[in-house]
Amino acid sequence: MLIARTSPISNSVNERELPITEEQLLRYGEGKEPIQVVFKNLTPEQREFILTGIVEEDWDYMFSDKTIRQYCHVCKEITRWINNTCGKCGRGEMK
Ligand SMILES: [Zn+2]
Repeated sequence: MLIARTSPISNSVNERELPITEEQLLRYGEGKEPIQVVFKNLTPEQREFILTGIVEEDWDYMFSDKTIRQYCHVCKEITRWINNTCGKCGRGEMK
């Protein structure tokens, strides 16, 4: 479903088509389960969008000098890594 969030960085509204259901959003809204559990099918980047409204472009803007980028063997390209996880596919370990 299409999710709209206002980015606290750029103050602009961004929309993302995410593979989630109304039921997942309700569970998330209840706040009883961690976001990683409710949206376990999403990538870290997609969860970050739901949680904060921050999109990839904002990270690039904020942390352009600190962002960890490395080759992902799953995506077969250089991607941004969050907590030792590829932000694009949600897999992989930092070597
Ligand atoms: Zn990847």
